Amino acid sequence: MTEYAVVVCGRCGFARLVVAGTGKSRCTHCGYTIDISRAIKHFTGSAREAREVVFRLNASGISNSGKKTGSKRRDVRSFLSKHSVFTIEEFAAYFETSNQEAERRIESLLDQGNVLRKDKDHFEVVR
Ligand SMILES: [Zn+2]
Repeated sequence: MTEYAVVVCGRCGFARLVVAGTGKSRCTHCGYTIDISRAIKHFTGSAREAREVVFRLNASGISNSGKKTGSKRRDVRSFLSKHSVFTIEEFAAYFETSNQEAERRIESLLDQGNVLRKDKDHFEVVR
């Protein structure tokens, strides 16, 4: 099975997924050459898990880039406090994203310890 690693760029802090065992990789964010063996933050056999780690790391903010910290960014917590029951579509609309991306974000919310009950076509926040 292919092993994946999550590396974090030493210059800009951008996290990304790589196939483990590759020597060097260029940061897609700033172009810096990353030495993979030194930059590994997380190691996994699952691409899906690695993607979630990448998403979490990047969502927590890239140090000195405006890319992820624009004023349009919306707060998940305020969404959850206003919507105790919501569908993927509502979530996607609120964050101006695709349903697929919304689903991915909801999954990572679960990983962060938020308790959501999944019903047929909607989620319910369990407080
Ligand atoms: Zn970089």
